[in-house]
Amino acid sequence: MARYTGANCKLCRREGCKLYLKGDRCTNGKCVFDKKDKNSKDVLPLPPGQHGATRKKVGEYGRQLREKQKARRYYGVLEGQFKHYYELAEKMDGITGANLLILLERRLDNVVYRMGMAASRKEARQLVLHAHFTLNGKKVTIPSLLVKAGDVIAVKESSKESVKIKALAEAMATVASPKWLEKDAKDLVCKVVALPQRDYIDFEFNEQLIVELYSK
Ligand code: SF4
Repeated sequence: MARYTGANCKLCRREGCKLYLKGDRCTNGKCVFDKKDKNSKDVLPLPPGQHGATRKKVGEYGRQLREKQKARRYYGVLEGQFKHYYELAEKMDGITGANLLILLERRLDNVVYRMGMAASRKEARQLVLHAHFTLNGKKVTIPSLLVKAGDVIAVKESSKESVKIKALAEAMATVASPKWLEKDAKDLVCKVVALPQRDYIDFEFNEQLIVELYSK
């Protein structure tokens, strides 16, 4: 299964914002975006590459492309998969841009991350691939699976004894989940009480730019 294996922080620097791709490191003050200069002012890191410091103004197409890349990288989705979500979003009722983000939010790896069982979506994806979860009582190993209202995601009984899962379970109790998920940190279970809505997604996206890019 193809996936991005390069440096995560480089992706954030490219998009000019924190994408929270490295778990604890993104929030414990070690992130390059949290660095301050001598006068205690925030320093925005330069984009990666030899010409990162000298990049010119971004045009309309550039802005649309960057917004698409930002969303794709935030959710850890490859180009082809992202296009597939866009095509699905177009066929759904409602606003295409909002539908696209809702579809991405419904991915199983995102749900595992949102319920607090993983420090990043990448780790959540790994846990799902290693069969640590069940969906409605059945073993599941597909991170891209889209959850539905009423679905129940739980840590597999045999995985509860794993040292790693025990450590993650402790962290789960301290993380607040979005209102479309109802979790039980004691039993390591999470229920999808409703489908997510656009305004439940707390990250800043301009999804209209993505729609404009794909509508060309
Ligand atoms: Fe690296 Fe995380 Fe900071 Fe992004 S948010 S630059 S992944 S530490």
